[in-house]
Amino acid sequence: MRLVVLGCSGSVSGPESASSAYLVEADDGERTWRLVLDLGSGAFGQLLRHTDPASVDAILLSHLHADHMVDMAAMHVYLRYGPQGPYPAVPVHGPPETAERISQVCGNGETIDEQFEIHRWTPEHVLTVGPLRVTVFEVLHPVTAYAIRVEGPSDRGGGTRVLTYSGDTDSCDGLVRAAAGADLFLCEAAFTEEREVVRGIHLTGRRAGEAATQAAVKRVVLTHVQPWVCGETARAEALTEFAGPVDLAEPGATWIL
Ligand SMILES: [Zn+2]
Repeated sequence: MRLVVLGCSGSVSGPESASSAYLVEADDGERTWRLVLDLGSGAFGQLLRHTDPASVDAILLSHLHADHMVDMAAMHVYLRYGPQGPYPAVPVHGPPETAERISQVCGNGETIDEQFEIHRWTPEHVLTVGPLRVTVFEVLHPVTAYAIRVEGPSDRGGGTRVLTYSGDTDSCDGLVRAAAGADLFLCEAAFTEEREVVRGIHLTGRRAGEAATQAAVKRVVLTHVQPWVCGETARAEALTEFAGPVDLAEPGATWIL
């Protein structure tokens, strides 16, 4: 299983990165399976760097804030009018309002039924895509939001590996359960301890580290750092609470699990 960062800029796209989007790939001996976790602004172009977007087996939306899904409009255009299009509908899994929200961003009365086969998450929903097993856990954000746990085959000598993506959340039980024992915990750190005191929206680097320790994960990759925050500040905060390795997500960065 491999994780590729398509976009990791927090809340808005940044000068160096698209907004939230991640490609997860896994091989089952016959072919490569591909999941896209979120598809924020500018991320569709980054997806083109790594694969044919029509080869994506499923798109999983953690929640429906624009910075996590607005490039579904670009995906819609590609699937409808792309070079070999129209392509078959791509399964999309997301919160209850996913169909309406995608219709809004596509706009102009565009229909989306032929491009997207939309499914609603339910709490602790389990989904199988090729060799990948996905479970979602409701987390704490101003809108319905989920952390996404992906279990898949190791690329490093057999066995199963676990990748957990926090989506957007503040500290909560759902996050810790989603990340329990994860080999890689891709965790947001949008806020910093010094700047933001508001609760119930995002993690700080320190709170991401705290969740990582509670969940006993093996490695943290911090993401969703806002463009006006220094990533090293988030990393330093996380390291005050978590004793394992803490990396910073960067566009194009890949982790092999
Ligand atoms: Zn959000």
